[in-house]
Amino acid sequence: MVNFMEKTKNNGTTKIGIDVPGPKTTCEDRKCPFHGETKVRGRVFLGIVKELTFQKNALVEWERRMYIPKYERYEKRRTKVWAHSPLCLGIAIGDKVKIAETRKLSKTKNFVVIQKME
Ligand SMILES: [Zn+2]
Repeated sequence: MVNFMEKTKNNGTTKIGIDVPGPKTTCEDRKCPFHGETKVRGRVFLGIVKELTFQKNALVEWERRMYIPKYERYEKRRTKVWAHSPLCLGIAIGDKVKIAETRKLSKTKNFVVIQKME
């Protein structure tokens, strides 16, 4: 028989499959990967929070380098993505965060913030 208690840590948060320190506070958010039903799978990125909305949306931006064969050099390009920001993580504008891919949470969101970097 499967022991479902193995899935939870001592502080009551769910292990999400990525090695991140869980949030210290809890929340009632169904879309929270730690306290809700959202499952994390796919790609993980590091970015800076540029915008926040009251609907717990965070606009996360990061830079990548694109190789241009003609000039044999790299150019900087930016990626912007809307991610779900659960209240238990206490994300503010300007924070460096780790986001992970999830199923589609709304029309524009299929990422969720999983860690606030120091
Ligand atoms: Zn939470």
